[in-house]
Amino acid sequence: MTTSQGSNSHQIPSNPRQKILSGMRSTGFLHLGNYEGALRNWVKLQEQADLFCMVADYHALTTHFEDPEQISRSSREVARDFVACGIDPARSVIFLQSHVPQHAELCLLLSMITPLGWLERVPTFKEKKADLAADSVPFGLLGYPVLQAADILLYRPFGVPVGKDQAPHLEISREIARRFNRLYGEVFPEFKNIIGDEAVLPGTDMRKMSKSYDNCIYIKDSEDETAAKIMSAYTTPSKIKKTDPGIPEGCAVCQYLRVYSPNWESQWNEDREGLRGCMQSKKECIESINEYYRPIRERRKELDDHTINLMLKEGAEKAAEVASKTLADAKAAMRFA
Ligand code: ATP
Ligand code: MG
Repeated sequence: MTTSQGSNSHQIPSNPRQKILSGMRSTGFLHLGNYEGALRNWVKLQEQADLFCMVADYHALTTHFEDPEQISRSSREVARDFVACGIDPARSVIFLQSHVPQHAELCLLLSMITPLGWLERVPTFKEKKADLAADSVPFGLLGYPVLQAADILLYRPFGVPVGKDQAPHLEISREIARRFNRLYGEVFPEFKNIIGDEAVLPGTDMRKMSKSYDNCIYIKDSEDETAAKIMSAYTTPSKIKKTDPGIPEGCAVCQYLRVYSPNWESQWNEDREGLRGCMQSKKECIESINEYYRPIRERRKELDDHTINLMLKEGAEKAAEVASKTLADAKAAMRFA
């Protein structure tokens, strides 16, 4: 097997129809950064391939094991966000990781052939470990990439949509697959990184928008909540009067205008030249964001718990159909049949 990376969505072969696996941890509601950086692209990908859209509730445990209530609640909310944003349950498979036990079983098998050194070198592990006391680093946090390998390999996908921060994890998934194939026989075909044109969306404080930073505008937020957040968002600190020049590259409100306003170029020029005040930009920004998310938020409100639970049940059945076949092949290759 060879490493293959850098494919983009336009190169997905249509015959036979390919599978794509994507997932999001259920640690809270999804925000505009999750939408811009991942979901927006997934919605496009489902036109070209069979999308398996996983709510990674087991992965949520790696950092939130003390709060199972929150994970459980978040799982349904993330699924609701998926559908509201345009993942179509009639076309794509939306499921919870914990509903498909094959993920845990394949993870166990793969863990036996994964060297510890591979896992200890992962940058996100090193970062998270540094935040914890030495004797409180969970085994599951270290093993995250093994579970992720199982998540992917079970579906034998053509590819996986990735953000830059996830690239090292996916390399480990490939290494594990290669090792398995070498040891026991070819069970897992190569898969590609599907790289979209996603940019990192800043939060209202101009750091990366992230649940952990409390700087998010959520998809579920009301128009009033959105307005309040934009009103207190970070702008050019030296722009006090309307006529002071702004620096749109460093202003959260201007960054949102670039994504959501068709007139952003003239808005940016006026900001730069001191021809508009931050208040005007904020008002226009609120309008643009709320307009973009209005249909999404309306759809979100219509999705009741019963609909979501039913969808997840059906999704798990469809996912298990594929996953159980792969797991059976893997176990047979390992002489467990
Ligand atoms: P946490 O704070 O727990 O890390 P998060 O809010 O950063 O949560 P993740 O679960 O890390 O969200 O990310 C889920 C997906 O959304 C990933 O594909 C990631 O690349 C993407 N993503 C997250 N934040 C942003 C952002 N600000 N801009 C673009 N993409 C983002
Ligand atoms: Mg993150």
